Amino acid sequence: MHEAHIDCDVAIIGAGPAGTALATHLARDKKRVVIFERESFPRFRIGESLLPLNLALFRELGVEDELERRFIRKYAANFSNDDGTKQSRFPFANALNKEFPYCYEVERAELDQVLLDNATGHGAEVRMGYTVREGIEEGGRVVGLVAVKNDGSERVTVRCKVVADCSGRAAFFGSRLGLKRDVQLETRTSFFSHFENVARDPGDREGDIQIVAFEHGWFWMIPFKGNTTSVGMVVTDSYLAKRKQLQLGRPEERGQHDESTAAVAGAAAEINDAFLAATIAQTPYVRERLKHATQKFPARTIANFSYVMDRYATDGAVFVGDAGAFLDPVFSSGVFLTMKSAQLVAEDLRDAFANNDFSASRFARYEKRIRGAQAIFLKFIKGWYDPAFVDLFFAPRNFLGLKTAITSVLAADLFDPRHLWRLKLRIRLLFALANLHRRTLRRSHGGRSLVQKMAV
Ligand SMILES: Cc1cc2nc3c(=O)[nH]c(=O)nc-3n(C[C@H](O)[C@H](O)[C@H](O)COP(=O)(O)OP(=O)(O)OC[C@H]3O[C@@H](n4cnc5c(N)ncnc54)[C@H](O)[C@@H]3O)c2cc1C
Repeated sequence: MHEAHIDCDVAIIGAGPAGTALATHLARDKKRVVIFERESFPRFRIGESLLPLNLALFRELGVEDELERRFIRKYAANFSNDDGTKQSRFPFANALNKEFPYCYEVERAELDQVLLDNATGHGAEVRMGYTVREGIEEGGRVVGLVAVKNDGSERVTVRCKVVADCSGRAAFFGSRLGLKRDVQLETRTSFFSHFENVARDPGDREGDIQIVAFEHGWFWMIPFKGNTTSVGMVVTDSYLAKRKQLQLGRPEERGQHDESTAAVAGAAAEINDAFLAATIAQTPYVRERLKHATQKFPARTIANFSYVMDRYATDGAVFVGDAGAFLDPVFSSGVFLTMKSAQLVAEDLRDAFANNDFSASRFARYEKRIRGAQAIFLKFIKGWYDPAFVDLFFAPRNFLGLKTAITSVLAADLFDPRHLWRLKLRIRLLFALANLHRRTLRRSHGGRSLVQKMAV
C-alpha cells in the first residue's frame, strides 16, 4: 500500500452539503482544504425538500442560478389528513420575511454534485473513494486523520489545524466519543422510493411538498422537475411491530441503516416494498395520487434517525451537519440546518485561525446558535406528534398571526434578529393554546383530535 502524507489547514470528512459548503467558505478564505469522501459521486441520498432560507445560503455560495436551472421551485408545504378532507397549505410568501418565498425540491445526487463542483471550483481538494479510518490525537487533541483508498492502494496521513467532521449520520467523532443521545420520538423508521406518474397539483402548486398524517405516522410526496416524485413514510415503532402480523419481518434487523448502500436487493427489498405498498393502500390521499404511479427502485429504509450529540466539538475537531445532530425529517429541516452549520462554523474558524486556537471552546458560538434553531424545530416536531397541536396546525384562520409564525418556522427563518423575538413570542402562544385545546378535547371530544386519528 502506498503511504502518502498531506499537510493542510482543514481536513473534512464527507462531501455532503455540510462538507462541501464548509469547504467553499474556507477555500474562499484561502485555506488549504482537503475533503475525504468514501463514496463515488453521484450517489443517492435522502433529504430532497429544501427550505426557503436555504436559498440565502445557496446565493452566498454562488450556486443559485445552477439550482434554478435544474430544479423545480417549491412555493409551499401542504399538510393533509389521511383522506385529504382536512388540508392546510403554508405558502412561504406569507412568512414574516418576504425575501425568500420559495426553495427547491432536489434529487440529492444532483444537488450534492453541484455543491461539490462548486467547492472544487473554489480551490478545495477532494479525494473521492477514500474512507477516513481514524483520527490522530496528540496531547488530548485531534491533529489529523488517516484515510484509506477504498481499493486498498493508498493510505493517507493528514496533519491539519482542525478536522471538520461532516460525515452525516455516520457521525465519525461523536460515535467514537460516545456523545450520541437518542431523541425520544415514537416515529423512528422510514421507508421510501421514487415513483413516476404521481398526480400533482397544477400551476405554482406543482412543486409543493405534500405531508400526509395517518394513524401510524406520516407520508411525504416530493415532486421533482419532470415526472419523478419521491414518496416516503415515517412510522411508529408500534406500527413497525404490527408488520409481523403482515408476515413482513423486520428489515431494520437486517442491517439496512444506510440509504446509500446497494444492499437493498432480494427478500429484504420485497419486504420493504410490500410494507410501503400496504400502507399506501390504507391511506386514501396517497393511494389516490399514486393510482397510476410506477416505482423506480426497491424501497429503502432508515431506522433510528433522530439523535443529538452532547457537544458539537472536541479540541481540534468540530462536528457539522448531521454529524452533530439529526432531527425527525417532518419539517424538512436537515439540509438547511446542515448548511447553516457550515456557515456558522466557517465564521468561528475565521477567529480560530486569527488566534491560532482550535480548541472546542472556539465553536461555542456556532453550537449555541444552531442548538437554538434545532430547539425550535424539535418543539414543532414533538408538536406534530401531539394531536392537540396538529389541530391548531390545521386551523384555517391566521388567528393572532399564528399561521404566519408557523410559516416562518417552516421556511427556517430562525436566525434573523429582526423577526426572531416576534416569532418566539407567537410560538409560545401557539403551544399555550395547544395545551388549552388538549383539555377541551379531553373534556368534550372523548380525547380524540379533530384532525388526527390519534388520541390526545
Ligand atoms: C428519512 C429522511 C428524510 C429526510 N428528508 C429531508 C428533507 O426532505 N429535507 C431536508 O433538508 N433534509 C432531509 N433529511 C435530512 C438530510 O438527509 C440530512 O440532514 C443531510 O443529508 C445532512 O447532510 P450532511 O452533509 O451532514 O450529511 P450527508 O449528506 O449524509 O453526507 C455525509 C457524507 O459523509 C460521507 N462519509 C461518512 N463517513 C465517512 C468516512 N468515514 N470517510 C469518508 N466519508 C464519509 C458519506 O458517504 C456522505 O457522503 C432527511 C433525512 C432522513 C433520514
